[in-house]
Amino acid sequence: MAYLASPRETKAIIDSYSFNFQKKFGQNFLVDSNVLENIIEKAGITEDDLVLEIGPGIGTMTQYLCEHAREVVAIEIDETLIPILNYTLSDYDNVEIINDDALKTDIEKIVKKKNGGKPIKVVANLPYYITTPIIMGLLEGKAPIDSITIMVQKEVAERMQTGPGSKDYGALSLAVQYYADANILMTVPASCFMPRPKVDSSVIKLDIYSEPPVSVCDPEMMFKIIRASFNQRRKTLVNGLKNASNLPFTKEEIEESIEKLGEDVRVRGEKLTLEQFAKLTDILMGED
Ligand code: SAM
Repeated sequence: MAYLASPRETKAIIDSYSFNFQKKFGQNFLVDSNVLENIIEKAGITEDDLVLEIGPGIGTMTQYLCEHAREVVAIEIDETLIPILNYTLSDYDNVEIINDDALKTDIEKIVKKKNGGKPIKVVANLPYYITTPIIMGLLEGKAPIDSITIMVQKEVAERMQTGPGSKDYGALSLAVQYYADANILMTVPASCFMPRPKVDSSVIKLDIYSEPPVSVCDPEMMFKIIRASFNQRRKTLVNGLKNASNLPFTKEEIEESIEKLGEDVRVRGEKLTLEQFAKLTDILMGED
């Protein structure tokens, strides 16, 4: 079986199966072998690894993953791609294709069954329409993960690395900073995909921390506070937290806590660092 990472091979497979690209599934297939080789190298995959791929498409990246990893599990939502994957990956006996929505898949169960509960590596060219929920799900889920190497829209990669003061700073940036050391590895122009997306992409690697960089008494509560602070961006932190139906704090408690944190009561959530959100959570929970 030839490698698929070229416009010619990709088109040949697509034509022979009369495959129609589905916009709703964010289908932009990689057609550049240099980019793929680079991703595989930087992901640091070894023959001990179980790799999870989200959205294998026609199997372009999966072929490379199968050659470097011990085993690959690939979750693809589009059932019309399954016969194509069975063909393009027929040379490999270390791959399992699961026809499912990755947002609903029990990844922890897969890790237990296939890797004895040891951390896995995730590698993916993510469908753009669900980048954030996929990343948040992986970070906040229970499945043990060593690293996540993903292709995302360039601006989303930047959003993951940004800090207070930027308009792109938000719950995604804070979750990434809490759970992982994030590094943008490369920018990939739209011309490396078929069909071409409207924007450029970046590959970002998230190396998951064994211990988060800040300590907080209740991480789940901290992320509820973070989400509430960014839900109403133009409101003050006090109003954001007071209006959140899933938070139990009174206006007075919130104001006192913000003052104790050393900030003005009119401060907006987007001004706070991860350390400050952790401290604010401890203060609000009486654990400071
Ligand atoms: N990995 C391939 C490549 O690099 O050429 C395809 C990447 S394409 C950007 C995204 C893939 O994710 C598509 O195959 C799409 O059908 C699949 N996909 C979209 N939503 C999904 C979901 N919720 N669960 C699993 N796969 C999904």
